[in-house]
Amino acid sequence: MSSVMPGLMSMVLFSLNRSFPSSIRGLNYWAASAVCIAVTAVLFALRGAVPDGVSVIVANTSMLVGIGLSLIGTELFFGRQPSWRFVIVTILFGSASISWMLWVHPNYFGRLSCITALLAVLYAAHARLLLFFGGRNFNTLFLGLMFLALTIASAIRCATSMSPGDVAPDIFARDPVQLVYLAINNFMALLVTVGFVMVATNRLHAQLERQSATDPLTGLLNRRAFAVLHAKAQERARRLGRSLTMLIVDLDHFKTINDRYGHDTGDRVLVDFAERVASVLGPYDYLARFGGEEFAILLADASAQEAFGRASAIRQLVQVQVDCDLPTYTCSIGVACLDAADATLARLSSVADRALYRAKSGGRNRVELTDEALATG
Ligand code: GH3
Ligand code: MG
Ligand code: MG
Repeated sequence: MSSVMPGLMSMVLFSLNRSFPSSIRGLNYWAASAVCIAVTAVLFALRGAVPDGVSVIVANTSMLVGIGLSLIGTELFFGRQPSWRFVIVTILFGSASISWMLWVHPNYFGRLSCITALLAVLYAAHARLLLFFGGRNFNTLFLGLMFLALTIASAIRCATSMSPGDVAPDIFARDPVQLVYLAINNFMALLVTVGFVMVATNRLHAQLERQSATDPLTGLLNRRAFAVLHAKAQERARRLGRSLTMLIVDLDHFKTINDRYGHDTGDRVLVDFAERVASVLGPYDYLARFGGEEFAILLADASAQEAFGRASAIRQLVQVQVDCDLPTYTCSIGVACLDAADATLARLSSVADRALYRAKSGGRNRVELTDEALATG
């Protein structure tokens, strides 16, 4: 079981790695780690049937390689520098010590305390990484606690193997401590790989959710995400008896910018606009790209007059050239401010659009409020 299960889980992890976006890293290391654990279990089971060099040295080395690779995988998954040197030194030291205690000074309990000490060190590094750098997330905390449990189990096994009493020097000895230790390891090997799958799918879920809510060019909210936030803001404004304000901002003569400087420069203007405007908004204001060179802003708690003032500040900010590599550009802004009960997204958009039309026909680089907006301001 302890070789079949990690073997199967490695296939799951390898196939996840193939289907997941390449930005989610580390899965192939987890999969390779599960293969090593499966190989280790097979070799341990063959103790006596194959030469000791294989069932002891290769098996223990394969276990250290497996646990080391899983640590590397987790480091890559969390975008950290993989600690190759630490892992390789641990494996080489473990392998050399085990060989020494098999061939030069045969000592089963010496080998056991050595390998469990090294495993405890690797597990501890893994637990620390997950618990302190994995973010506040149930799955990573769960996985971190499992590695903590493995650290403690290995440390206890290391301590008990230093004074074994009259227990037979055999991996499958009828020693309760050894049996509990083996059971924990087998159980955890499966739980940990399931944990890796959970953590990875969780990351994919979060990534897809973020992608479906944002515009890839500017990183701003898209129309869909804006609609969700608008619904919440409208509900809140209704509860507090406030009005709701929306600005529609459209860059002026953007087609000319594209024609004159190229589409790439046009894209950079859009990014420049997004960054600069986002930097002057408050934490409860929302900026979204509605499409092309049109943006929407939902302002928290602004009267029509305040909204007009803030829209004018945005217009003035935009017309100042900051990046010398980009052409100077301007924008026109339509402002809609409605009572919360009337302020559906469709109503706000249509009112703001009408104001924007007036700003455009009035000569561009202007801010306009509609009459309705003034009525509630
Ligand atoms: P106006 O002042 O009336 O708003 O004129 P305009 O040229 O800004 O408006 P128009 O609607 O005629 O042109 C918008 C242009 O925006 C046309 C389209 O090619 C360009 N555009 C839309 N999306 C993008 C984009 O993602 N990147 C770039 N570079 N251009 C875009
Ligand atoms: Mg335009
Ligand atoms: Mg437009």
